[in-house]
Amino acid sequence: MDQTPHVALLPSPGMGHLIPSIEFAKQLVHHHHFSATILIPSAAPPTTAQKTVLQKLPKTIHHIFLPPVQLPDDPLSVASQISLTVTLSLPSIKHTLASLSTSTRLVSLIVDPFGIDAIDGAKEFGVLPYLFFPSSAMTLLFCLHLPKIDETVTGEYRDLPDPIQLPGCVPVHGTDLPNPVQDRSNKAYKGLIESLKRYGLAEGIIVNTFVDMEDGAIKALLVDEPGKPPVYPVGPLIRTGSSVGLERSECLKWLDDQPSGSVVFVSFGSVGTLSHDQLNELALGLELSGQRFLWVVRNPSDNASVSSFNAHNQNDPFSLLPKGFLERTQGRGLVVPSWAPQIEVLSHRATGGFLTHCGWNSTLESTVHGVPLIAWPLFAEQKMNAVMLTEGLKVALRPKSHESGLVGREEIAEVVKSLMEGEDGKEVRRRMEALKDAAAKVFSGEGSSAKSLSDLAFKLKNQLNI
Ligand code: UDP
Repeated sequence: MDQTPHVALLPSPGMGHLIPSIEFAKQLVHHHHFSATILIPSAAPPTTAQKTVLQKLPKTIHHIFLPPVQLPDDPLSVASQISLTVTLSLPSIKHTLASLSTSTRLVSLIVDPFGIDAIDGAKEFGVLPYLFFPSSAMTLLFCLHLPKIDETVTGEYRDLPDPIQLPGCVPVHGTDLPNPVQDRSNKAYKGLIESLKRYGLAEGIIVNTFVDMEDGAIKALLVDEPGKPPVYPVGPLIRTGSSVGLERSECLKWLDDQPSGSVVFVSFGSVGTLSHDQLNELALGLELSGQRFLWVVRNPSDNASVSSFNAHNQNDPFSLLPKGFLERTQGRGLVVPSWAPQIEVLSHRATGGFLTHCGWNSTLESTVHGVPLIAWPLFAEQKMNAVMLTEGLKVALRPKSHESGLVGREEIAEVVKSLMEGEDGKEVRRRMEALKDAAAKVFSGEGSSAKSLSDLAFKLKNQLNI
């Protein structure tokens, strides 16, 4: 048998989970001589985006599409779709681990938060389970503290008069906590608490962040506490290699013709959608701002977190834009359906701002490229990310919504102008540039993330006495 230490990674469905897992595997393979297999659970045939990122893997990283599972027909939130897909895939996950443990020197199964139930399977095969946490250190701290908070706080968190103060973090109001936490009587909340209690079963937690971005939260995570596994901050891991998108040439060619730093990129990640009314306001707000924009438009939906994480190709979302909008903004704005090659857009010299849903991958990608943000969180932990980016790091501006939750066109225009031309924008840009410089150093010899990764690799290899 090949003596190379081998890790199995189980990213839950969604590009936002797959991409950082692949990048993490590349770090182990390129810098620490591991080999890896990525197990991909899904409820549908592989998407073009998935196939493209997987095609370009180094030879020592294999991937296996687990047999697609059948989800019920009822409308489910994205989180429920993801978690059910992983649960229904558990038998094939075990089967694959059995086979890997006989054909390779399998040392670890690395799951993400939706795959925490697969930890038992890993233990069955004598393989050490690790958790790969693809979001911020602040969100991880929140997850580790929530079971305790649950025992001590009564009533809904959103009604608490004071914000919640996690060690080393900016205070967060209950209304900015992740979705499943907004209704404590909901079964999703109870399920979350149960799954968070299982984090302690992991041998270690790998988190995609870096010290300069989340100094306080990381310090708090590194404190030894009974029941808390050691934490390894190894970020920012963002997609490397060429484009995932289909619109590459159109978007990028258009950007080539725009002045430096003049375009605001508008995108809500791989699944985020706006309501029809909000889509309308955003269009009119972008128009009113007078700024150049590149906007990835997806079909509207009344619930931002009820869409399909497998669907990128949808009907014609342009037909739902305000009448005459495309004509009036022609030349100054470009609208693309569903998907854009985001990293290439963010690294383009013409891009000067990013209106984002604050998904963690998008946040890191913008940071690495020094692009300041407009924070427009939709679901999951995005509101917490927005608080950290706006009030903690101060690298983002955040538009205010009406009581109905709708953000009006004037507010949008104001914030976009402010980021691209105003004094506030200048400050935010300056801080983002500094963070970009810090991010560029963390993987160098003495860099904090390189060191963390070496410690982890050492631990994984040591258990094999290699
Ligand atoms: N992405 C992209 N093009 C798009 C939308 C998303 O390339 O049009 C990529 C983006 O670069 C990021 C990932 O998909 O790597 C989205 O992850 P994130 O955590 O930001 O948000 P999620 O999609 O998980 O809500």
